[in-house]
Formats: sequence, structure tokens, C-alpha cells
Amino acid sequence: MSESWTRREFLTRAGVAVAAIQTFENLDPCCVFAADAETAREDLFELKPVADGVYAAIAAPRYKVNCNAAVILTDDGVVVVDSHSKPSAAYSLYRQIQGITKQPIRKIINTHFHWDHWQGNQVYAEASPGLEIISSERTRENLTRPDAGAGGVAYIEKQLTSVPKEIDKLKDDITRATSAEQKARLEGNLLQAEAYLEELRQMKPALPNRTVATSMTLNERGREIQLLLLGRSHTDGDVFIYLPKEKVVASGDALIDWMPFLNDGYPEDWVQTLNALEKFDFTRVIPGHGEVVPKDHLAFFRGYLAELIAAVKQAAADGASLDEMKRGIAEQLASKYERAMSKYPLGQYRDRIGLNVEMVYQKVVKKA
Ligand SMILES: [Zn+2]
Ligand SMILES: [Zn+2]
Repeated sequence: MSESWTRREFLTRAGVAVAAIQTFENLDPCCVFAADAETAREDLFELKPVADGVYAAIAAPRYKVNCNAAVILTDDGVVVVDSHSKPSAAYSLYRQIQGITKQPIRKIINTHFHWDHWQGNQVYAEASPGLEIISSERTRENLTRPDAGAGGVAYIEKQLTSVPKEIDKLKDDITRATSAEQKARLEGNLLQAEAYLEELRQMKPALPNRTVATSMTLNERGREIQLLLLGRSHTDGDVFIYLPKEKVVASGDALIDWMPFLNDGYPEDWVQTLNALEKFDFTRVIPGHGEVVPKDHLAFFRGYLAELIAAVKQAAADGASLDEMKRGIAEQLASKYERAMSKYPLGQYRDRIGLNVEMVYQKVVKKA
């Protein structure tokens, strides 16, 4: 949420979204959000051209996160990479795509199994009979495993338990707010959480119906789209979408403009996977979160991971406790990484460094 929004502006926008979601049930997705589409889409995404016929749908940083999407036009249909956290967001982007082409959506590619990248699949599946939903084999498995991590069908059930608690906490926090600004922000978050819960309750998960086990090329009419499986990184099933002619990569969360999320990741493999990606000829990256970045962001992001791993290993060898590591490494890496990893209201350096340290300690040092 933009800090510059007034409370009234925010509540007006969020209120429209809530009203729309309450009417979602029992309606064909083609017609549900028409009345508010203008408001909702400006609120959620900005569609930015990246190459001829290739767009980045850059998600507004909101409390209930959406991922970015890549929109790739071909001569006989549209390919969309990732589908956000909820059907209303996917529908909002679907309407925007209809504004630039009358071609149907032919394919959705899910870069990985996390909740904020696939829970909108159903909108495209309902709107486009015959839609292919493509992922890696491993991502398809993760989507149906009970214990895969922060995504998949089982995670929807978990959220149906956790989000009501989150809502209760937000209500409680609102009563204790110490400033009008803080209260307005919490009230905005509460509206998002309540609307999100409604969508979770009505969700009809649409899973990938085509999987790939190794890198391959989709020869769409007028467009070559490569799916690159380069090893484990942010998850064990990440796919990079590479357009060789346009020199563009859509990277999911394996390369983002926020601090990375390591909980389902493989820190040391991740560095190697980014090395492999770097060998391809591209100039720009549509990341899973944040703005479109130039290729050299890869080296910066990989540098953070590599230095984090080295720092945790060293601190562990020196006998530091986990709390000492968190504090010490946060300071040690701040001069190089804090500013550039804190460009947006979400996913900032200080919000994630402690958990990143802990995850590397568990995964690399303790090998839990
Ligand atoms: Zn994400
Ligand atoms: Zn992710």
C-alpha cells in the first residue's frame, strides 16, 4: 500500500474490492468484476511493456501479497506466467489483458508452488476451455503434497485456519493503535484479510495439467518460449521462463527485487542455479516481486545469498548462538545490502534478515 494514500482513499478502494468479492459466489467469472474492474486493476497491478508483445504485470506491494505476472502475446493466444494469490487478482489482470488483445489465454505457467503464484489459476481455467496449466513435475507434486511448505492445496486449508486468527489479531491491534495513521493502515490490512478469507473459502484450485521434467521449448506461433529447469533454488521445482529473441527472463521468486524467502529453498544450490541462469543471453528480468530489473541484478542477489551463507558458516564455526548470528550478520551485511533490499514497503532487509540467517543455519550448517 502506498504510504501517500489517505485512509479514505484506501478504504474506498478496499471497500469496492470487498463488495465485489461478496458477489463472487455462483457467478460466472467472466462477469463478476466488470463494475469495479477499473478501480481494482489500478489498485493491484501496473502493466508495463518489456518487449514487443511482452508485458510485466507489476503487483502493488500490498499486505495480502500478489506476485508479478508476465504476459506474453503470441500469434494464436496469450501465455501468462503465474496467477497471483487469489481469483479476484487474476481476474483483474485477465481484464487488462483483454484490453490489449482479443486472443484467448492459451497457457498459464506456474513458476513454483507458493500460494501467491498459483491460487488465481481457476479464473483462467474457467475463462479458457482447453487451457494448459504448465509447471515442472516437482511443482505439480508439491501442489498436492500435504507438507510442501508455503503453497499447494493443503496450504489453502492451513490458511483457512490461520487467516481468521490473523483477522482477530488485526482487530486487536486496531484497538491498541497509537496513531490515526497506524490505525488506518491496520484497518486497510483488515479489509484485505477479510476479503482474502472470503476468496479462500470459495477457491476451486486449478492444478497444472501439463508438466515438464527438463528444460524444453514451447514453439508458440510467432514466439519461442523456453522453460528452463536449472536446479533447486527458491524451491525444488522452480522454472525460469526465457524468451531468447527478446532477451527477457521471468524468474518467479528465484530472483526477486525483495529479500529472498528461504524457508522452502536450497541456499547453496540456489547460488549454483543462478550461475547457470547467468550463462543465458538476456538483458532484463521480470522478477516474482518488485520492478523489472536488469541482468546485473542477478549478481547482486546471488552475492547476497553467497555472503549470507559464508557469514552463517563462519559465525557457527566461531560458536555464535543463533540470536548472536542474527544480530551480528544483520549488521555485517547491512552496508552492502540493506538499502537495495528495502526498496518497497514489503520484503525489506530488516524484516527478513533474521529468518534468512535462521534458515541458512538450519539448511546449510545443521542440514536439518
Ligand atoms: Zn512470491
Ligand atoms: Zn515463492
